[in-house]
Amino acid sequence: MATEATETTESTEPESKRFRRLRRFGRCSILLATVAFASDPVAIDWAMVAKIREEGLQRSRVADLESYMTDVLGARLTLSEDMKRAQAWAMAEMRRIGLVNVAAEPFMDFGAAWDNEYVSLHLLEPDYQPMVGYPIAHTPGTNGKVVADAVIVDLQTRQDLESWRGKLGGKAVLSTPPAAVDMAPLVNGTPRRTAEELAALERTVIVPARPEPPRRIANAEVITPLQRAAFFKSEGVAAVLESSSGWLGAVRGFSRPGSRDDRWSAAGDSAAPVMIAITPEHYNRMYRILKRDIPVKVELEVRNRIGPRAEQAVNLVGEIAGSDLRNEVVMIGAHFDTWHASPNASDNTSGVAVVLEAMRILKAVGAKPRRTIRVALWSGEEQGLWGSRAYVREHFGNPNDSMPTKKPAYDRLQAYFNQDYGPGAYRGIYLQGNEHARTLLGGWMEPFRDMGMTTVSNQSVGSTDHIAFDEAGLPGFQFLQDRVPGGGGHTNLDFFDSIPVEDLMKNAVIMASYAYHAAISDVRIPRKK
Ligand SMILES: [Zn+2]
Repeated sequence: MATEATETTESTEPESKRFRRLRRFGRCSILLATVAFASDPVAIDWAMVAKIREEGLQRSRVADLESYMTDVLGARLTLSEDMKRAQAWAMAEMRRIGLVNVAAEPFMDFGAAWDNEYVSLHLLEPDYQPMVGYPIAHTPGTNGKVVADAVIVDLQTRQDLESWRGKLGGKAVLSTPPAAVDMAPLVNGTPRRTAEELAALERTVIVPARPEPPRRIANAEVITPLQRAAFFKSEGVAAVLESSSGWLGAVRGFSRPGSRDDRWSAAGDSAAPVMIAITPEHYNRMYRILKRDIPVKVELEVRNRIGPRAEQAVNLVGEIAGSDLRNEVVMIGAHFDTWHASPNASDNTSGVAVVLEAMRILKAVGAKPRRTIRVALWSGEEQGLWGSRAYVREHFGNPNDSMPTKKPAYDRLQAYFNQDYGPGAYRGIYLQGNEHARTLLGGWMEPFRDMGMTTVSNQSVGSTDHIAFDEAGLPGFQFLQDRVPGGGGHTNLDFFDSIPVEDLMKNAVIMASYAYHAAISDVRIPRKK
């Protein structure tokens, strides 16, 4: 305790300077803690924390929210009719919670609505078996029930194209190599984060200089996925079948090739073949039979509803008004859109349930934040963070963009907190390389150590909506979460059953407390220098 003795006897120093020096040595004595409270930038409002914990852990509505969204609303592909129905529900829910300025903000022309209405898929020969598969988003349906011979087609080059020309009419094409089934989850399970793992995450990582991007080698012979799909369409195949995930029992299927470039347009949909993603086990079975030169016959039918015209996709927002600093904003959020093969209970219905519940808790306990707290439910995340990026550009500007902008609100954003790493409990927070935010973000986890919220990692993590803020130089953060067993994101197996509801309850409490403390703090969260 030598350091403590030395520091506390330096009474000739000005109060503020002495306090700063003390803080560097942590709160390791009662004296320190007492002195610290008066002007501590990370001062915890313990009375409010108690209310938030009580409301969020004893009167939680997060399970109900999660169940309603997954069981009743279901999948929410951006701009689908399913999504529009769900967004109407979410806006009503925000108003019911008591949020103000609830709004749907259009952010871009997102093409035509696409919804799968029906799919049926069967192996007929050499042995009957129903198969599990889902149409790829933004592909057309079949004209009723189709029976087709299956054929393996490995289409990589222009020569392949020529060799198959005229031979594929009416065929069901196995277009990908057999998927290697990953047995690890079955053998190992999905362990939660261990102490060693958390310690490793806490170790400071020096970000290496970015390597040169690999030189693109022009190879006129190689065809693109888009060219492959166009060829199958022009050849009149019955359907293109694929399986690429290798996850046990799981179908993973995304948008058809080219949809990003043609903005998911109805015209592009009609130019694509029928495409169906199938579980690796069912797909591989057909593949192995065909490799024995034994014919495979399948029966399939797909009905998709494709909207008649391009429409605007929308983000949803709602607020708890601030008081003396109401023009400054703390944002929390999660993407509301999903892929289409399941309700996506984890990715990212769980994040949406947590941020809505955090807002509900704050209203229920009568929190009076100084800064405005705004929740955002993004759309277009799965196709590439379209909703959050457009929002940042529109509201804050992006000085790092190719066309740099900076709006007045840019300097009035305190922080953005996101959840999108599944439904696992918060175990810490990623600083996103922002060392200046360590004191505040680390300090605010103090009341939640008993919940396992202990780790400040300086690592930068990606792939979700906080990146839209971070890349614009705004403080956007993602929590460090436990992994949990279950179906996982982007599959047909992501349902309520594998959601650890207690973890969501804890997350909502922590999210509410972070939003609240960011909203009452005397200081601003420092930005990256
Ligand atoms: Zn996600």
